[in-house]
Amino acid sequence: MTDSLRDTLPAAHRHLLPEVYDRPAVVETRATCGDCAMCPKGDRTPGAADVFFRPDLKCCTYHPTLPNFLVGAILADDSPEMSEGKRRVEERIARRIGVTPQWLAPPRKQRVLLEAARGTSFGRSKALLCPYFDGEGGGLCTVWRHRESVCSTFFCKHDAGAVGDAFWMANKQFLGTVELALSRHAAQAVSPDVTEPRIPRLKLTIEDLEDRPPNEDDYAGYWGEWVGREADFYRACHAHVQAMTAADLTRLLDEPDEPHGPERLAELVRRHDTLASSAIAARLVPNPKMRTTTLPGGVGVTTYSLFDAMCLTPDLFEVVRQFRADETVAETRARLAREHDVEIPDALLLSLQQHEILVPPDAG
Ligand code: SF4
Ligand code: SF4
Repeated sequence: MTDSLRDTLPAAHRHLLPEVYDRPAVVETRATCGDCAMCPKGDRTPGAADVFFRPDLKCCTYHPTLPNFLVGAILADDSPEMSEGKRRVEERIARRIGVTPQWLAPPRKQRVLLEAARGTSFGRSKALLCPYFDGEGGGLCTVWRHRESVCSTFFCKHDAGAVGDAFWMANKQFLGTVELALSRHAAQAVSPDVTEPRIPRLKLTIEDLEDRPPNEDDYAGYWGEWVGREADFYRACHAHVQAMTAADLTRLLDEPDEPHGPERLAELVRRHDTLASSAIAARLVPNPKMRTTTLPGGVGVTTYSLFDAMCLTPDLFEVVRQFRADETVAETRARLAREHDVEIPDALLLSLQQHEILVPPDAG
């Protein structure tokens, strides 16, 4: 039986998600994580990509912000394969850095570093590595079963190119809204006295700068009577979320505190519909923003993402160059068939459009 979108997400809250998550899972066949598609392969040709990741880092140069109920799910998971992830989470809680009632978050300094170095160092520097990544055995996530929305929705390559990317972005945004609403609600349900730090994103306290936890008074201000029992608090948040229903989540997302829920859900549905569509624009032209490089086997093209460069054969690249704004797609196809005996299958044309190698004339 085909997995649904829901089946691919953590058990802690997937039962709460709306009906769109019963649609079939979207499988990204080119994001071959076990044999990372972004890592150089010995003496094999590097293909079209000009950005590579280190095999001992892959795309896990990101420190996740785990909502309280997923932290609780990790702590409550007694299966042997979760023991290492649980140990790492417990270690992080003991350090008290980024440990708040709503989240087990990165040290704020780590966020500043990622923001400043993403463009140059994502996938390439150990300084950004996730604390839950185990570099042994090909690189594994020790909390995979309970990973958060960013990790659940990131793929370096998309079978449907930019259309797939837009779907995953919409999915990330909606799941992020759900995590925010649920973690806030669970924290208040378990203890109305706990509070979150009010420090703007990308601002650092002196403790943040010096890799120290908040001072005792501030920490006690966040946690109240739960200081020293943070793991119990997270477990209680997990139990609370597990006992909720889909109707509870819908009510939460309709509250004025969570203004983006309905609109992000609508966007997710729209993006999934587009993913399933095979409609081809009336007119297409080569993407004027496309970057090209000459490769031994053809032409490397980069369009919507540096991570999803493709190699076109010289013949296919020439076909792409034949599309013109003053002809409809049907006219160009007929001309290519008449003058060059070239038939362009619908699936190929759709793929070129989805990867934004061909775009509508007004999209450039
Ligand atoms: S999603 Fe990450 S681990 Fe998977 S193939 Fe891409 S870069 Fe590698
Ligand atoms: S939580 Fe797992 S998937 Fe996410 S960045 Fe860390 S190791 Fe990678």
